Amino acid sequence: MTKKIAVLAGDGIGPEIVAEAVKVLNALEKDGLDIELEYGLIGGAAYDEAGTPLPEETLVISKSADAILLGAVGGYKWESLDISVRPEKGLLGIRSALNLFANLRPAILYPQLADASTLKSEVVAGLDLMIVRELTGGIYFGQPRGVRVLDNGEKEGFNTLVYRESEIRRIGKVAFDIARKRQGRLCSVDKANVLECTELWRETMTELAGDYTDVDLSHMYVDNAAMQLVRAPKQFDVMVTTNMFGDILSDCASMLTGSIGMLPSASLDESGKGMYEPIHGSAPDIAGQNIANPLATILSVAMMLRYTLDESLMANRIENAVEKVLEQGIRTADIYSEGTTKVGTSEMGDAVIAAL
Ligand code: NAD
Repeated sequence: MTKKIAVLAGDGIGPEIVAEAVKVLNALEKDGLDIELEYGLIGGAAYDEAGTPLPEETLVISKSADAILLGAVGGYKWESLDISVRPEKGLLGIRSALNLFANLRPAILYPQLADASTLKSEVVAGLDLMIVRELTGGIYFGQPRGVRVLDNGEKEGFNTLVYRESEIRRIGKVAFDIARKRQGRLCSVDKANVLECTELWRETMTELAGDYTDVDLSHMYVDNAAMQLVRAPKQFDVMVTTNMFGDILSDCASMLTGSIGMLPSASLDESGKGMYEPIHGSAPDIAGQNIANPLATILSVAMMLRYTLDESLMANRIENAVEKVLEQGIRTADIYSEGTTKVGTSEMGDAVIAAL
């Protein structure tokens, strides 16, 4: 049956990197991948066209699709807009509307890029880590929130960190299932010594471990986890954590691998439907110059094939092709080093297709 994919390119480098990922999808169509692409607006581009960062039409396309391919949103142009219509609101809105509660962020260091990391290569060589971040709850969504004026005239900002047991259990299950298919080690990251909400997080994860006796569960405070990620990242197999902690730790993990331009992500709902996107933003500083690295977006397509479209062999083909291109010494500017060949965004896409 034909699978529908909603393509939301977004802003900045979004359209450039998504074009390369679509080229890869088109190449796989020739080999029998049965898909239909539908395009929609999101972020600043949607605001400019429709006055909102998440038009109804985009939601309709996305809800009826089997999977969504997203570029990135945001940029200088929209920074002064009211927060309710900023591009980033479109992203939070679609994650929430589609109930994409599980964010999977692998951090893999390709041996060919060991020198691109700021850490010593012996610390990161062979790194293969999966961070599972809760995406639709916690402090980014908790109510009440805002800035109020106190009786003495001083302003006070406030946000609410809130998690229900069922939300913790739901993300926990995803993480345990993934750990089961990998090395069987799961580290749950919290701040249970200070925050009651994450004390509940720890208790719930511990209870859940009873159903996964084949997975080795450990707990770590988030400050220590940040330190361990740069000290000895290879100790981790799968990490599971809250929305905000996951946001920060996954960016940190991404730098272990050398470039934010290499890392894909998946955001899944309970049925396995997902939105697939690079972990980086819209990089307005390099937009429109054909220098952005499209590999994170291309690798997001591989995740889409594996987690939603049930086409693991095609996913493997893409990942192998990316590795082959790196082996050939082909590099975009962000991962370039002496002795390799620097290419632009579209040339990198072409090289991956040639290697497919
Ligand atoms: P960013 O990830 O866009 O860029 C950080 C740095 O990494 C920049 O120097 C950029 O040039 C570089 N970079 C990012 N992607 C790259 C790629 N594919 N190839 C080469 N270099 C790349 O983060 P930022 O600068 O903090 O944010 C820029 C805008 O993106 C903001 O409006 C922000 O809100 C938005 N943003 C969007 C998302 C998303 O859509 N998922 C995520 C993060 C930030």
